[in-house]
Amino acid sequence: MRMAPSKAQVAIVGGGVAGLVTATLLHGHGMDVRLFERTPVLGAVGAGIQLSPNGVRVLHRLGLADALARTGVRAGAIETRRWDDGSPIARVPHGTLCDERFGAPYYLIHRADLQRCLVSALPEGIVELGKGCTRLVERPDTVELHLTDGSVTTADLVIGADGVHSVVRTAVVDDAPRFSGYSVHRGLVPAEVVPSFTRDPRVVFWLGPERHVTYYPIAGGDTVHFSAVGVSPDTRSGSTSAPGAVEDLDAAFAGWHEEVRRVVTAAASVTRWDLFDRDMAGRYATDRVVLLGDAAHPTLPYLSQGANQALEDAVVLARCLEDARPGDLTGAVRRYEELRLPRTAEVHRRARALGRTFHLPDGPHQERRDRDMRARQDLEHLDWLYGHDAAAATTAPGPERAAGREPAAVRLTPRP
Ligand SMILES: Cc1cc2nc3c(=O)[nH]c(=O)nc-3n(C[C@H](O)[C@H](O)[C@H](O)COP(=O)(O)OP(=O)(O)OC[C@H]3O[C@@H](n4cnc5c(N)ncnc54)[C@H](O)[C@@H]3O)c2cc1C
Repeated sequence: MRMAPSKAQVAIVGGGVAGLVTATLLHGHGMDVRLFERTPVLGAVGAGIQLSPNGVRVLHRLGLADALARTGVRAGAIETRRWDDGSPIARVPHGTLCDERFGAPYYLIHRADLQRCLVSALPEGIVELGKGCTRLVERPDTVELHLTDGSVTTADLVIGADGVHSVVRTAVVDDAPRFSGYSVHRGLVPAEVVPSFTRDPRVVFWLGPERHVTYYPIAGGDTVHFSAVGVSPDTRSGSTSAPGAVEDLDAAFAGWHEEVRRVVTAAASVTRWDLFDRDMAGRYATDRVVLLGDAAHPTLPYLSQGANQALEDAVVLARCLEDARPGDLTGAVRRYEELRLPRTAEVHRRARALGRTFHLPDGPHQERRDRDMRARQDLEHLDWLYGHDAAAATTAPGPERAAGREPAAVRLTPRP
């Protein structure tokens, strides 16, 4: 495919974190970008989100440091406790240590605040709301996008940023989302419910048999967001989200520590989400269609990395397109794929592994997990995750590329 990348017409499908940031970056590189979002208004799904230094660094480079600092809460630590008596398992200090070690803070933020930041960076006229993509037809010289309003448009390159149930993905990989067997209830409660956050704002994980709970302050500390994960009552899985019942949480967390019970039963309402990921496909692109964010590598949320990885994806794809030899869009998406596959496969693998250890019944395996966590109460063990500079990674050729090889270790699905 030969075309000057800056003249290419790019269509992005999906206006979540991945789509919005990619649109901003590509527009900044002078590309002709349109973003199609199926919902009539941009909505932020869920309430709180944790942004680690590897993701925050991308947002800082977009000029969003002040906006993030206004509403984001800096996490002083990530703490893990036992489900019944609250005894501490581990505490990893974050706070200013993150800035010193990784050059960016760890933020806890309301998703609506994050979305406002992302939209503020995007020039007007790029997002087209109420236009869902129903299917793609890829031809040698163009891609047709069929939209829910009945229109058909074309682009030189289509970027699928349409989440875990991606339509665009069907043009790249033949697979389906995999239900994890777990669901999560999410809710918001007033700051007074966890008074200790005033002096010690942090993420608290509570680990117990078949369940775990996470909560942290957001919205400048005015609100606490919680996620309560447990074995799903619906083993067939189904809905991605549904209204939940606070009474279900009351029953599910009977016998848990008083603070956990206070938090999960204090919400006026909760929503329930079934948790899905997919097996790693080993490819993120065809010649003219490329995936990023959850559309590329939907990952269980146990490492709190989905959006952070989407931010890394966006910066790498934008750099690859900017650096492409004149007209070589295909080369650019191949390079993006090569750079991102190993990194995202590792995050995906570790998130699944945490899904197995977070919910252990009390006993020797749980005791070993707790010992392992106690042995890693420093930021150093997170260098691989927080220290990754996605933009810098694009300037150095990877070992496979330097040797003129495809990255075979992660190429799981042969290219047709
Ligand atoms: C319980 C839970 C907690 C999490 N916590 C964290 C965390 O703390 N930190 C973190 O980094 N990540 C976290 N994640 C993961 C994170 O939410 C996702 O990885 C991230 O939102 C993915 O962004 P995305 O833009 O790729 O996809 P999405 O946010 O899913 O956005 C996709 C967009 O595409 C639109 N769309 C879908 N289909 C179409 C279509 N056919 N046509 C047009 N538009 C379409 C949707 O309406 C949506 O706007 C968590 C996830 C869960 C479930």
